[in-house]
Amino acid sequence: MKLDYSYQDLAHILGAELMGSSNGEIHSVNFDSRRIFSAENSLFLALNSNTNNGHDFIEDAYSKGIRSFLVSQECIKYKDATYFIVEDVLESIQKLAKYHRNRFSIPTIAITGSYGKTMVKEWLYAVLKSDFHIVRSPKSYNSQLGVALSVLELKEQHSLAIFEAGISQKGEMEALEDMIQPTLGIFTGLGKPHSDNFESTEIHLKEKLSLFRNCNFTFANKEFHSPLRRMKINAELTTIEEWADILPDKFTFKKNLVLCYKVAEFLGIEKSELKRISSSLTELVGRLETAEGINNNLIINDTYNIDIDALEQALAFQFSSNEKRLKAVVVDIELLSEVKKQEIRACVNQFNPEYYFEVSNSEFPSEIFNISNTSILFKGQHGSFLSKEIGRFVEKKHQTWIEYNLSNVRHNIAQIRSRLPNNTTILGMVKASSYGSGDLKLAHFLQNNGVEYLGVAYADEGVALRNSGIHLPILVLNAQQEAFEDIVEHNLQPAIFSFDQLDDFIKTLIAADKWQYPVHIKFDTGMHRLGFEPDEAEAVLEAVQGQPEIKIQGVYSHLANSDLSNDQFTFDQLSIFETIKKRFIDEYEHKISFHLLNSNGVKNYAEKSHDMVRIGIGMFGVEPGEDSVVSWFTRISQIKTIENGDFVGYGKSFQAEKEMQIAILPIGYADGLQRCFAQNGGGVYLNNQFCKIVGNICMDMVMIDVTSMECSVGDTIELLGVNQSLQELASKMGTIPYEVLTNMGSRVKRVYTEE
Ligand SMILES: *Cc1c(COP(=O)(O)O)cnc(C)c1O
Repeated sequence: MKLDYSYQDLAHILGAELMGSSNGEIHSVNFDSRRIFSAENSLFLALNSNTNNGHDFIEDAYSKGIRSFLVSQECIKYKDATYFIVEDVLESIQKLAKYHRNRFSIPTIAITGSYGKTMVKEWLYAVLKSDFHIVRSPKSYNSQLGVALSVLELKEQHSLAIFEAGISQKGEMEALEDMIQPTLGIFTGLGKPHSDNFESTEIHLKEKLSLFRNCNFTFANKEFHSPLRRMKINAELTTIEEWADILPDKFTFKKNLVLCYKVAEFLGIEKSELKRISSSLTELVGRLETAEGINNNLIINDTYNIDIDALEQALAFQFSSNEKRLKAVVVDIELLSEVKKQEIRACVNQFNPEYYFEVSNSEFPSEIFNISNTSILFKGQHGSFLSKEIGRFVEKKHQTWIEYNLSNVRHNIAQIRSRLPNNTTILGMVKASSYGSGDLKLAHFLQNNGVEYLGVAYADEGVALRNSGIHLPILVLNAQQEAFEDIVEHNLQPAIFSFDQLDDFIKTLIAADKWQYPVHIKFDTGMHRLGFEPDEAEAVLEAVQGQPEIKIQGVYSHLANSDLSNDQFTFDQLSIFETIKKRFIDEYEHKISFHLLNSNGVKNYAEKSHDMVRIGIGMFGVEPGEDSVVSWFTRISQIKTIENGDFVGYGKSFQAEKEMQIAILPIGYADGLQRCFAQNGGGVYLNNQFCKIVGNICMDMVMIDVTSMECSVGDTIELLGVNQSLQELASKMGTIPYEVLTNMGSRVKRVYTEE
């Protein structure tokens, strides 16, 4: 949305008192300080609701760059901001919308009715979009504020406008009509009487229909003939029968679709064109997730909002499938108004499901757990109790999963410790979601098992650990300037590797009023990644010594070639590090922790451990003789027999030379099973027997040869485990274990075992 109102104009249109600078323009409006994406030339609306006073968020909006505010109470604070002071912020923005609407003279369609507004709007848009440049309400913006915001979207280039209007109280429609000033109307109908806020259905209807009092034509289904007539509305009526020859079967809401047809016909769209477009329409505007549930139920998860239109569509989806399950609907009604509850009940009633449950007080009625062979629609707001607990109804059998044996992690760490000189600290590297094993689990396991330090690559990883209750010191390797405040706030220890960065970090510390804040100085001793040059040691010491805000906690470097023992390049790195160490010991007053070795470093140069070692891959036991931690499994989805000469997979990449039995597995390169694995002769194990992959690996699936093997759908398949090591898997993927681990897809379930 780009508006073009100067401050002066705006004050004039709104009759507002203007405080602060009067030079400026408004290009957009914002009413939610949490969602400010571009603050420049945006007007913040300090709207009051039942629960919030918008004026409380001015500070937040200001901190995000907003400099103009529409307010209704005394709150002048910032000298460089402009305030428009009015009686009522909502009324003022409606006034602006009305003014804005009057600048355009294009056909403007208003849609109202109890249900189906969003569906009709979206369908009509789809049907008309190639003939008109259309502005339409975003999402289901149909309230007092939503309509104002929608109307403000009107721009020069538009040739048609479609707006929804919804009311929940008597007297509201007038303001909506005033803003939209529709030339055409669509009435989607009235559900069963459901609202106590209206004395009777008749009054309710009258209120709704008042939206159309100035329309040239209003479109409706024929059953609403009488009330439209009583209101003297110039109606164009239609029926499903009228469109029988082009109406696709698949729709539940045919009455809504024929309304769109009728309007489109009026606007000059050919019937043949309507038929063509409607074949590609879908009933569903939003997204719906389904999952296999416990007790052979089907779970439909629609716990994102509690909008009535969306509920109706979800119900349509649930009832349109022809499977023979019973139907249940579960709604989280906590915090909903009486009106909304009534609306929901009326909406659900239309479909008449076998079971209907309302959930409140964060409790499920126990009967829900006894339902079986039923499709259950769960409906609740984002973040509601229901949205959080829906997992209890989902079948837990994983299709593909990675298992981490934490007892073996413990054992591997003990092994490492036994090789280290006494009093060497272990830092556990948990960067990249702990080498792909999950964001938090390993870090907590290490904290509980005597590991003294943790390391991450980026500050946000450290912040997540802190927020989850990690109290160990945390080293951040890539400490970027933008993250310094987060780092200090969450007590993370940054690696300092350049003078610019050092300077900036000291500034952050001064601003935060910190004293002796621990950092680690990183030197580049040959790897040529991040780090100070060895000959910069003196300058680093000088820079730090004058600054009591900062304290050198550690000095470290990283080996480039530590997987080789007795390696000259590594010896050179080790000796450069010794020189740096000596200098810091001689010249720095506090004790410093020196650290250099990673897992392979410990394996080959344990005597050079200094004060601390940084262990990553070593915890996972990928070397022979170590306890392997990671296993990877999936299950057979389908088994088929193919004939001699049949092809398998994309690009006909495999051709059978005899009759074969193949199994399809639900895992692909999106899960980290790289395509080249198949090309290098890769395979998996069924009952400890090797099965070669046939054809190319797909994104989500792969086919294997199970000819003359005993197997059935659901059988477990090992990709990585006792029969195939991480080393073997990695080498057939042309890479190293690190990459295999960190490439395992995030959609694959992680399971942790511990004896
Ligand atoms: C990743 C990393 C480690 C850990 O390496 P492993 O080989 O997994 O033990 C240690 N130090 C630094 C600087 C790292 O980036």
